[in-house]
Amino acid sequence: MDGKHSLSATNLAVYQHLDCDLYIHNVYNGSSQGATDTSTSSPSELTKAQYKRGLDWETSLYSWLDRSQLLLKVPSMPLEASSLLENVQADDRTHFFITGLNLWPPQAKLAEMFAHARTEPFNFGLAKPDLLEIKRTKDGVIGWRVLDAKASKHVKVYLALFFILQGTAFSLADLFLQTSHHIQIYFYTLCLKYLLGHPFCHADDSAGIWLPPKDGFHTSTPSFEDIKSISISLLAPAFDTFLFKELPRILNQPYEQVKWHYNPLCHGCKYEPECRPRVQKEGGLGSMPNISIDDAKVLKDLLRLSDVSAPFNESLTDIEQLHDLFAKPRKLDIILGRSPALVKKSKQILAIPRKRMKRGPILSPLVEAARENMVQVSSEVPCHVLSSHTPIY
Ligand code: SF4
Repeated sequence: MDGKHSLSATNLAVYQHLDCDLYIHNVYNGSSQGATDTSTSSPSELTKAQYKRGLDWETSLYSWLDRSQLLLKVPSMPLEASSLLENVQADDRTHFFITGLNLWPPQAKLAEMFAHARTEPFNFGLAKPDLLEIKRTKDGVIGWRVLDAKASKHVKVYLALFFILQGTAFSLADLFLQTSHHIQIYFYTLCLKYLLGHPFCHADDSAGIWLPPKDGFHTSTPSFEDIKSISISLLAPAFDTFLFKELPRILNQPYEQVKWHYNPLCHGCKYEPECRPRVQKEGGLGSMPNISIDDAKVLKDLLRLSDVSAPFNESLTDIEQLHDLFAKPRKLDIILGRSPALVKKSKQILAIPRKRMKRGPILSPLVEAARENMVQVSSEVPCHVLSSHTPIY
């Protein structure tokens, strides 16, 4: 393994998008195979197109702000908080946006948050917020908030659940933003709150994602109406717990115990070339094609329940456990009696035909195909690697 690195806000956003502990563990600790940004995993055409669209939107937004006399460009090099303040104070506009910011996170202040959470601190990399919005009041107070320009709109249902659980009203626009965007703006705001802790500076309680106009940024100009704001105090409890409590635990886990699941999102991950053969070798659920993270959770629940009712042989892989379970109709009937919805959902995921031969074994084409692929490698795999108790795959 490589030496320990640091985590950037972009790493955190990718982690939330991929929903994979192994990704962030690899970024920080170095992967077992030493994959780097220049690994053989080239991004898909879709990923490249999305990346280009994001850059085009940023360019279009900055140039519009510039033409509107609303942009202050600072040199793209790590800036001291004092230099940032000097730049802001030297600008007499009442409303403008700063771009090009590069700031080192206040590690000593963040270390206090780790200490409060009683976890081992880790280093954060250079913070590069897209935009800092500045509004100066008549009495000279500098109000600020962080904005990120994002060209993509994806629905993440759990964000809606988050709002519901918090008892907070939310708009449809909120649903079109990913929490992966929010972790970035939250982290930048956290850092800047410490760095700009000056009596004449006032942090707004919101941060925002600046989306392109609905009919496209090639035909319409950007609008302040497309800034989707979110309350920082609303995000703080969940993200502070994640950053200072949960993340240190994930980063310090031994490699073999880190949670991961090979799934369709992996095609955009730089560690895909090492995870693909690993999942096949270890017979994880991801050795079946297109098993999403949610699907894997359902199947894991099914295996857990089955294991409680009649423990599996510990040397069986997840794929073999599924085969074993469906090949024994009596065992499956017990689970069916306890949790019919779970069995029904699992059968759907595994493409098991609704009708079956009386008392005969039930075969999933997905499980059987994955087993056949495993046959060539399973003889090389030591039993402990095939243990069903290896966490989540
Ligand atoms: S390829 Fe998939 S399983 Fe592997 S680290 Fe990336 S997201 Fe996680």
